[in-house]
Amino acid sequence: IQSKLPKVGTTIFTVMSKMASDFDAINLSQGFPDFPVSEKLIDLVYQNMQIGHNQYAPMPGLPKLREAIAKKVSNTGGVDLNIETEITVTAGATEAIFSSVLATVHSGDEVIVLEPAYDCYIPAIELAGGKPIPVSLNPENFTPDWEKVKNSITDKTRMLIINFPHNPSGAILRDDDIATLKEILEGNPKLIVLSDEVYEHIIFDKETHLSVLKDEFLASRSIAVSSFGKTFHATGWKIGYMVAPEAIMKEIRKVHQYNCFSVHTPSQYAMAEYLQDEKNYLGVSGMYEKKRNFFQQAIKDSKFKVIPSYGTYFQLLDFSEVTDMPDLEFAQYLIKEKGLASIPVSAFYSENQDHHLLRFCFAKGEETLQKAADILCKI
Ligand code: PMP
Ligand code: GLN
Repeated sequence: IQSKLPKVGTTIFTVMSKMASDFDAINLSQGFPDFPVSEKLIDLVYQNMQIGHNQYAPMPGLPKLREAIAKKVSNTGGVDLNIETEITVTAGATEAIFSSVLATVHSGDEVIVLEPAYDCYIPAIELAGGKPIPVSLNPENFTPDWEKVKNSITDKTRMLIINFPHNPSGAILRDDDIATLKEILEGNPKLIVLSDEVYEHIIFDKETHLSVLKDEFLASRSIAVSSFGKTFHATGWKIGYMVAPEAIMKEIRKVHQYNCFSVHTPSQYAMAEYLQDEKNYLGVSGMYEKKRNFFQQAIKDSKFKVIPSYGTYFQLLDFSEVTDMPDLEFAQYLIKEKGLASIPVSAFYSENQDHHLLRFCFAKGEETLQKAADILCKI
């Protein structure tokens, strides 16, 4: 059949995880934690199944969970949200992104994507009939190059997709980025922002996550997406949510109701209750910061150069001192010959580029991180 996505193959995360398993390598490639989900949260899911919360949840998500999300947003300095009209629970952030793009991007609309970019944005834009416009982040620190963004805006630009804390680099937004973003939106009334904030609760060095939901004006022009997979170490549960102004959300729900309708009911009850204790989301950063520091310390005598990671559970390493192999080739070599899996950063770009960067996921126990570091130190 004629492909609608001719450039798309199997995702790099699936490819590298499979290769890790085939070669019995330590898997720091695909991003997922190797430690258990809180027993309390698991018990809550089980209890809710036992008492019979097993049928369809309402299409926008359980009201109790939407209330808990609104409370979390306001607790972390965000705007007050209307739970009836502005919050929808989704099948992970992936569905939120897909439904948002499909509902808002019309045929021929341009969508600016900051690269390196998470892999699901461009296929969603293409399926909507939109035109992805890749714009590189600053190569030295992966922050937005706002001049380049401004210069890429045309009268067809409908959406700008941002993702901070940033996968794969761990870069974050600062106050001056937010000020420039607001200025850009003020000057371009047709433009909306899709802000992928799945790592919002994983931020280090006393930095603060600057959500688009912390500013009334930005919130009025943005769709914000988050994922309980990241916050509760349960990537396999595939539950997330999106927040958008009523008029935009009304359109997105038209897609969500046919793409997914609603997500796992007992988990929604459980998460609504689990979110009542703010430690359950505010404590996540500290736990990951220790892991980041452990991994960075363990590889400090290696030839790999650490690119600062201020958030997410990813660490970029520059391997220019080690080899001039392309990153995909070097990543494959590391799995086959050294038993360690990572993700080549070129996979996050639409055009082939030579970066000498690999991404390592440090959401792992210290023993695993130490073993990985021992391998890197011997190279
Ligand atoms: N956006 C980014 C930047 C991600 O890293 C991920 C997951 N790895 C997602 C979206 C998808 O999240 P979910 O698993 O909740 O669909
Ligand atoms: N977001 C995860 C990562 O960046 C992968 C998720 C997936 O495999 N779809 O590694």
